[in-house]
Amino acid sequence: MDADRQADAFVDAVADGPIACDGLHSEAGPDGYSVETPNDRSEGLDEAALRELLADHERLLDNWWTWHRAGDGSRRAFLRWVESADSRPVAERYDTLAEGVTTEWGELSIHVELTGEDTGDRRYELRHIDDIDVPTADLAAFEEPLDLRRPMKFDDDGRYRPLKTAPNMPTGWRLGGLDGRDCVEAVEIAYPATVANWYREKEGNLDITHWRETGERQTGIYGIVEELPREAVEWVAEAACVDSQCLKRREWGYDEDDSLSTDGGEGPFPCREPCSLVVAAARRWTTLEREDERTYEFTLTPSEKEQVEDIIDTVAGGATEDIREADVYQGANRYRTRYLRAKRMDEEGNLCGVVTDPDSDDHDDHDDQ
Ligand code: SF4
Repeated sequence: MDADRQADAFVDAVADGPIACDGLHSEAGPDGYSVETPNDRSEGLDEAALRELLADHERLLDNWWTWHRAGDGSRRAFLRWVESADSRPVAERYDTLAEGVTTEWGELSIHVELTGEDTGDRRYELRHIDDIDVPTADLAAFEEPLDLRRPMKFDDDGRYRPLKTAPNMPTGWRLGGLDGRDCVEAVEIAYPATVANWYREKEGNLDITHWRETGERQTGIYGIVEELPREAVEWVAEAACVDSQCLKRREWGYDEDDSLSTDGGEGPFPCREPCSLVVAAARRWTTLEREDERTYEFTLTPSEKEQVEDIIDTVAGGATEDIREADVYQGANRYRTRYLRAKRMDEEGNLCGVVTDPDSDDHDDHDDQ
């Protein structure tokens, strides 16, 4: 939009009430218009003088127009956050926007730059943060936000992603040429509700549902999760909610006055309640936690004990595929694990021949539910 039409809109807007936007303040009074910019203040201006002054502050006017047009609410706040509008003065920000500004939202890289067509008009591009330096021509180009829906369902190995905020977003694509509205829509497709919840938190309105309340609300087959011991909820959070597993910052605790000691994460967008994936997993853990502990005696060499620990660590860290077949120094190496199995497990799969339940007739009683 050209500067004259922006000035028209400004004159209309200031007639409706005072304007305050990133260092540009203006008010209409009985003695004319007052205008304050980062460098000066003028009072008693008539409309022609006001327009003249605005023409001398093209970027301030354009910046006002951009955010005036964006309306209120989460979209405007998010787009301002993308270009650090709350912390960078307009002149400096427009200089950097001419080159382009890149921000990260989880694994999304959000790039914004001025188009150079209309003053201050912005265009946004999304891609995976791992693809920031990949030439644009080497990435699959999507055309509109809805094009993201299907690819976001699977990781790079083609496995279904049950949790959209898990750090396994697929790479190799870009979605460019977006206006602000489409940019936010695309972000919300990649990471549902994250912009809305980020905004609620920013405004002090994030309603958090803690574990105990979530458990009490469950019905049917999930009703048992409210029995999960307090201590086990820490393990749930450690298993599923830390940054290596989910990029949301967990804000829920056990109860309003009882936070969890497990790290909630560092991400920009909050998690306001235990998600369905966690509740479904907790159902299984609740059943398992009902079992009484027993003491077993296994005979292992010190290295074998450490190998069992290595295997648990490696599987929990999702790192099994990182271990090379020839690297038998790694406890979770496949050949080494097969060796351990050959040496220490009987034909029924019992570690060191120790049956799980000696009182049961079925000694091949491994839990396979
Ligand atoms: S409950 Fe945990 S795993 Fe689920 S979305 Fe929240 S932080 Fe992520």
